[in-house]
Amino acid sequence: MDLGIAGRWALVCAASRGLGRGCAQALVREGVHVVVTARGEPALQATAAELRALNPAAEVRAVAGDITTPEGRAAALAACPQVDILVNNAGGPPPGDFRDWDRAAWLAALEANMLTPIELIRAVVDGMAERGWGRVVNITSAAVKAPIDSLGLSNGARSGLTGFVAGLARQPRLASRNVTINNLLPGPFDTDRLRATMAGAAQRSGQPLDEVMAARRQLNPARRFGDAAEFGAACAFLCSAQAGYITGQNLLLDGGAYPGTF
Ligand code: NAD
Repeated sequence: MDLGIAGRWALVCAASRGLGRGCAQALVREGVHVVVTARGEPALQATAAELRALNPAAEVRAVAGDITTPEGRAAALAACPQVDILVNNAGGPPPGDFRDWDRAAWLAALEANMLTPIELIRAVVDGMAERGWGRVVNITSAAVKAPIDSLGLSNGARSGLTGFVAGLARQPRLASRNVTINNLLPGPFDTDRLRATMAGAAQRSGQPLDEVMAARRQLNPARRFGDAAEFGAACAFLCSAQAGYITGQNLLLDGGAYPGTF
């Protein structure tokens, strides 16, 4: 299926590794030009080179910087001639007990996982509406739908973004101009972040990492973790020409882990 987005420009945030990189790969395969960001220059440049090799017809620009800062966002936006597609992503907040989180911890989580995507949406959606085409995909978390106790900062900040986006996506001045805003909710995906979380669990329990990971896979109905490439494919579809009637939705990618009918 041709997704009809070759030649469009996408800003894919936090994309040197993991789910962001999976989204950038899928878009580049479709012939989308991308600006990819991440904090660390070497990993970002390596990813940019890999993306260029995937599809020489797609232009790839790499902008190193912290997307949760005004400077990081300004640099990312300046590198993109026109944002047709925005994929919002940033690192997730740390796990812990809410008694240990002071105001600064909450503000950092809100900054990264709620206010940064809102700022970027604010910067691009009116231009999308004027041009009559735009796609925004926010990478959030399955924890928005089924909260994970130890990830309270994530549960809270991402729910704020989800509530805001639910209202914004339904504004006729966006929806009637072929501008869609949707959220992708990852369950457990095999990325560096997931491995780091599992390594922490292995250390605390004294169990070997392989065993901790195998036990976690068994907890999922699919008996495996998700793969960043399949996450990217879902993102690319939501960004496709064909997805213009899908907006304000929360798509869970979790191998069937969420137990509800809806
Ligand atoms: P990852 O650690 O594998 O990759 C994160 C990427 O984001 C890296 O490229 C890193 O350089 C970049 N990054 C992080 N903070 C940044 C910042 N402030 N500015 C610019 N770039 C930044 O993580 P992942 O597993 O791909 O997770 C992506 C998002 O999805 C995170 O918010 C995570 O909490 C969430 N999530 C992941 C899973 C999972 O199982 N992997 C599940 C639920 C939610």
